[in-house]
Amino acid sequence: MAIIIDGKELAKKIRQDLKVEVDKLREKKVYPKLAVIMVGEDKASQVYVRNKSKACNEIGIDFEEFLLPSNITMEKLLELIEELNNRKDISGILLQSPIPKPLNIREAFNKIDYRKDVDGFNPINVGKLAIGEKSFISCTPYGVVKMLEEYNINPEGKNVVIIGRSNIVGKPVGMLLLAENGTVITCHSKTKDIASVCREADILVAAVGIPKFITGDMVSDGVVVIDVGINRNEEGKLCGDVDFESVEPKASYITPVPGGVGPMTIAMLMKNCLTACKKQNNL
Ligand code: NAD
Repeated sequence: MAIIIDGKELAKKIRQDLKVEVDKLREKKVYPKLAVIMVGEDKASQVYVRNKSKACNEIGIDFEEFLLPSNITMEKLLELIEELNNRKDISGILLQSPIPKPLNIREAFNKIDYRKDVDGFNPINVGKLAIGEKSFISCTPYGVVKMLEEYNINPEGKNVVIIGRSNIVGKPVGMLLLAENGTVITCHSKTKDIASVCREADILVAAVGIPKFITGDMVSDGVVVIDVGINRNEEGKLCGDVDFESVEPKASYITPVPGGVGPMTIAMLMKNCLTACKKQNNL
């Protein structure tokens, strides 16, 4: 029986600690504020933005939403980002992905001032992460390392296998765990015989986006499993990339979906927003 890594509970604890900090800032008349830009009407994005707004509310971080029509031009989107970069009352800027085609999300991320880039997607922050300098770490990877830390799982000297090489999850998780002295292998859609690579893992991070991609026969006894996936199964229910039923009995630790990495992502966004605010106010 594996120990279940309770992301929901841990995220709650982090939010409570952040609230104490925010209360102190507000007493000093410093008001952290998150600006969220959403383009178009993607249903999943609407849910994510609502959850972010709720978390801000609970902690005391001000929240301003910018809902743009899906036919907005790139020029207008960049203009808005520039305006938010310059606004003194905005601590952090988040552009909710995806944005409709033909808009270029990379160009938009590049435009966000790296000091307000609470999602950690600006190339300056990505570069800093790669060379081990302090930066805004994107929220999901940050949540993953925080969970390992809280459960005293030290990646040093461990075989870490990551499935997925996206810029928002797989790659930054790999850089973070490498910095913590893990021996990191990143698998992707062109990797041959993923199952045998996975069986070498002491720590396995699944960020593929395919329901039940990792099955019990692909893991070794005692593995620590972090399931980043958020998918819908045939019945429309939320599920991860890991087949929990067959993997959990072999694992030493495992994250559930929902209630694992998801809530941690939002908690780390709040943390980044607070860090940005404090830096901007020389605190
Ligand atoms: P993505 O589609 O950008 O990347 C998926 C990666 O998986 C790619 O690198 C691809 O090479 C790899 N891949 C695809 N098919 C494969 C296969 N058959 N074998 C091996 N590798 C394969 O996805 P993403 O944005 O990194 O997200 C991954 C999952 O994590 C999704 O389910 C997403 O919803 C979820 N996610 C969750 C959170 C959270 O807060 N928990 C945040 C971001 C993403």
